[in-house]
Amino acid sequence: MPRMLPPLELGDIVRLRKPHPCGGYEWKVVRLGADIGLQCLTCERRILLSRRTLARRLKTALPRPGDEQPTTT
Ligand SMILES: [Zn+2]
Repeated sequence: MPRMLPPLELGDIVRLRKPHPCGGYEWKVVRLGADIGLQCLTCERRILLSRRTLARRLKTALPRPGDEQPTTT
């Protein structure tokens, strides 16, 4: 069964299984289409991955700041 891509929005931060050669693990979604554009948060380099490739490489999509529960102390 193919691995499904979680719903992504522009500006979402995702983490891939393997680090970029620069050492960065986290990427920002900068383009949505047939291919997904990601920008490395560490070196700001951009790459394009097909949805299928991204689904394979994606480790986790980080929660958006707005989705986080407010901390009550
Ligand atoms: Zn990088």
